[in-house]
Amino acid sequence: MYTWLEASWQQLNQARLQDRLPHALLIRGQDGVGKQALALHTAGALLCEQPDAEGNACGRCAACGWLQAGTHPDLIRLEPAEAGKAIKVDQIRELGSALAMTSHGGRHKVAIIRPAEAMNVNAANSLLKTLEEPAADTLLLLLSAAPGRLPATVRSRCQQLAVATPDTAQARQWLQSEGLGADTVLRYLELADGAPLRAREMAEADSAALRDQRLEQLAAVGSGRMDPLQAAKDWQGDAQRQSLEWWRLWLQALIRWKLADRPPQEPDVVQKLQQFTERVDCCQMFDLSDRIAKALNSMGSGLNQQLVLEDLLISWARLPKRTGARTRAGNR
Ligand SMILES: [Zn+2]
Repeated sequence: MYTWLEASWQQLNQARLQDRLPHALLIRGQDGVGKQALALHTAGALLCEQPDAEGNACGRCAACGWLQAGTHPDLIRLEPAEAGKAIKVDQIRELGSALAMTSHGGRHKVAIIRPAEAMNVNAANSLLKTLEEPAADTLLLLLSAAPGRLPATVRSRCQQLAVATPDTAQARQWLQSEGLGADTVLRYLELADGAPLRAREMAEADSAALRDQRLEQLAAVGSGRMDPLQAAKDWQGDAQRQSLEWWRLWLQALIRWKLADRPPQEPDVVQKLQQFTERVDCCQMFDLSDRIAKALNSMGSGLNQQLVLEDLLISWARLPKRTGARTRAGNR
């Protein structure tokens, strides 16, 4: 459980242990603060066959297996059919029928509606019936970042739990423990308005885009379509370490490909860098990989990082060009 959700979780767990969980709970809180994690953790505690002393799901029983696979028949997750669209009345009616049936595991039935404010008027009206006549041992969890957009009739029939956004120090500490650098953490935390999970999601999305760009740049520099000095300029800064680490991993994948005939697992690496394995021998790739490792070790040592990057990328640009193409041209 995320550290900042601990208090909310304790509250829910106490209610669970004392058998006074409501039939319907509206979990309010900003996007990216962990409402869904809290709901799933609670569902786990209710559905697991042997939760531990703290109330956490055991992670080993059959029920936990189904939960992890997303196939537990007593956990119903209701979301719009498409992101950004409404939750429709048919979905709520189906939910009503599913909750009316006996539970598969002989324990609770749990439904998570997310985001609850996505229910259109008819759906919300239909949900009222379920809220007014709840089946035994059912827990409805409504998650919402905008509870004000839910009809008052729905809100008033739910107990409410507000999940607070953690303070900056706590959020920073967690994001750093997730491996993000201090500067990156500050930037994304601000963009995400303090919500740690949203901040991590944004950082990961940007990181994936950057990885694709670095791969493309290497292919371009290596085949003479991009000036290595331009690339070096681009690589310097916050993401330099990450960029060099990617490059080194790709080189190692290419070396394995050449030596053991095992192509890299990432299809775009195969597509973009295949030409280099055809023309470069393993010694050259080992050599470059070593130099990248040294460059990584030298970071922060006062060495001019611009020069280090230029040196590496120029070497990459100077690797032998594809000989096959030259031969064909020469034969003409
Ligand atoms: Zn379990």
